[in-house]
Amino acid sequence: MSMQGLAVANETGVERKTLVEVEGLRRVFDLSKPWLNRMIEREGRVFLTAVDGVDFSIRQGETYALVGESGSGKSTIAKMAVGLLPPSAGSIAIDGADVWGKKSPEAERRMRRKIQMIFQDPFASLNPRWRVGSIIAEPIKAFGLIDDPLDRAARVGELLSLVGLDPRDGQKFPHEFSGGQRQRIAIARALASEPNFIVCDEPTSALDVSVQAQVLNLLRDLQERLGLTYLFISHNLAVVRHVATRVGVLYLGRLVEEAPARELFAAPQHPYTKMLLEAVPDIEMEGKDRQSIAGEIPNPITPPAGCHFHPRCPVRRPECDVETPPPHRVGDATVRCHLFGSAS
Ligand code: SF4
Repeated sequence: MSMQGLAVANETGVERKTLVEVEGLRRVFDLSKPWLNRMIEREGRVFLTAVDGVDFSIRQGETYALVGESGSGKSTIAKMAVGLLPPSAGSIAIDGADVWGKKSPEAERRMRRKIQMIFQDPFASLNPRWRVGSIIAEPIKAFGLIDDPLDRAARVGELLSLVGLDPRDGQKFPHEFSGGQRQRIAIARALASEPNFIVCDEPTSALDVSVQAQVLNLLRDLQERLGLTYLFISHNLAVVRHVATRVGVLYLGRLVEEAPARELFAAPQHPYTKMLLEAVPDIEMEGKDRQSIAGEIPNPITPPAGCHFHPRCPVRRPECDVETPPPHRVGDATVRCHLFGSAS
C-alpha cells in the first residue's frame, strides 16, 4: 500500500492530486549462466533482486527524490517508471493509467507522450549527427503534435529559449556545445512532447560543479512554469536537498526511509539515512566534520538476511539479523527499522 493519501495539502496549503502511484514494485534479474555451463560447473541459478517491494507516490508539481548508493535499485526504478524495463511484480500508475498495463495503442501513445526522461550523460544521449533543431523536433513529429514544418521550427525555437539557449542554436550540432548546454538541449527535447512527468536520472552528475546549480535551477523554474512533476534519481544528497519535496532513501532495493525533504534533512531517523547525511560535504559551511560512509554495500545477489543494513549498522539489535523491519510511522516519516518498535 502507498504511503501517501490521494490528495494532500502541501506546505502552502494547496491541494495537489497524486500523479504517480508506485505499489509493491519489484524487479528480479536472472543472472544465471546458460544451462550447459551450470550443469558442467555444478552451479545453481542466480537471481538478483534489484527492487524489492517499493511503494511511494508523487503529487502533481512536486519532486520526489530517490537516493542511495550505487546498486540500491534507483536507476532500475527509473527505467520501470518510464516504460523501459518491465517490473517483475507491482505497478506504476501515472495519472491513473498503469504504465505496464494492457491498453489501446492510442492510450499507450498518450501515456508515452506524457512521460519523459532526462539522462545522466548529455554527451551520450544526443545523436551527434543530427542538428539540435532536428533532435528537438523529433518528438514533436513522432507524436504528431505539429504537422507544419514552419510552425514546428518556431516551436523548436521557443523550446530553446525556454531552456536558456538561442533559437539559432537549432542550426548547430551537439559537439558545438558545453556539457551544461547539452543538458539544456536534452531538457528541451524532453519538453517537446509536452510531458507532465519527467524522470531525471542523475541529470547533473556528469557536469562540472559550477554548472550543476544552473541546470538544477532551470529544472526548478520549468517545474514552476509548466507544473511538471519530477522523479529525481541521485546519489548526491547535496543536490537532492536543492530540489526535492519528498525523499525516499533506498538500500539494496528497499525503501528504508521516506519523508518530506525538510524533515529528512533536519531529523533523519533511519541509521542509514544518518550515515548518508554525515557523509555529505559541508555545503552549509557550518564547519562540521565530514564522516565517510562506513563499510561497503553488500553483494546484492546475496543480501544479508533480516534488515539488509545490519552488517553496517552501528546500533543493530539481535532481531535485525533475522527479521525484516516493517514500516513504522515516525512523525511525517515512514521508517523501516526495528528501533521504532511497533508504533505504526
Ligand atoms: Fe540497524 Fe536494526 Fe534498524 Fe536495521 S533494523 S537499521 S540493523 S537498528
